Amino acid sequence: MSSRYTRGADEIVATPTGSILMEIHDLLFTAFGPQNWWPAETDLEMMIGAILTQNTSWNNVEKAIQNLKEKNLVSIKGLSDTPAPILAEYIRPAGYYNLKVRRLKNLISLIQDKHDGDLNSLLSLDTETIRKELLSVKGIGLETADSMILYAAGRALFVVDTYTHRILSRHGLIEEEAGYFEVQMLFMDTLPHDVELFKEFHALLVKTGKDFCRRKPLCPDCPLEKVNREA
Ligand code: SF4
Repeated sequence: MSSRYTRGADEIVATPTGSILMEIHDLLFTAFGPQNWWPAETDLEMMIGAILTQNTSWNNVEKAIQNLKEKNLVSIKGLSDTPAPILAEYIRPAGYYNLKVRRLKNLISLIQDKHDGDLNSLLSLDTETIRKELLSVKGIGLETADSMILYAAGRALFVVDTYTHRILSRHGLIEEEAGYFEVQMLFMDTLPHDVELFKEFHALLVKTGKDFCRRKPLCPDCPLEKVNREA
């Protein structure tokens, strides 16, 4: 295991699955290097990005966030005070802009109503409570909530997305029909709970999914080509 992380190799739970997951991580890190996720200047910006990136590429999200920054709207007050139709125009590049504005407004309402407008008050709760509160927001599901918990709150909670599921399934580590929590527990039960490791590993899996593990996989050129595949 790379010494970049705060915990040593001896802390990896010694299971075959844990070893394979770390092998996958190390191969991807060697091939791609650090992904520097999440690309945001503040926790709120990260959380805005997590909503805007639903069903769209990051390039489109960047343009939407840039528009918000130019109008000084990356703030609880800015997002709260700006009428939805105006916000929708600014975030239009991210697609589904009317829906995403409602989701942003829902998140801001949670922070205002339950935390007096103080994001840190939400992010300093225990992990399960943050998750419960985020999941109570219409439009925030498990992947988005867990992304916010990992990258904004800085808690060691592994984020599962479509790419993670597909890569693990194709390498025989999970059944194709495995659910979100089953996949998440595979990481949580076999890897050290290291925030930086989880941040990097998730980002590396997303890159692998986008570049190689597509619906039609590009295995010959993929860094995981030599890792055992059962599907
Ligand atoms: S592209 Fe092939 S080698 Fe790469 S992760 Fe997907 S199944 Fe594995």
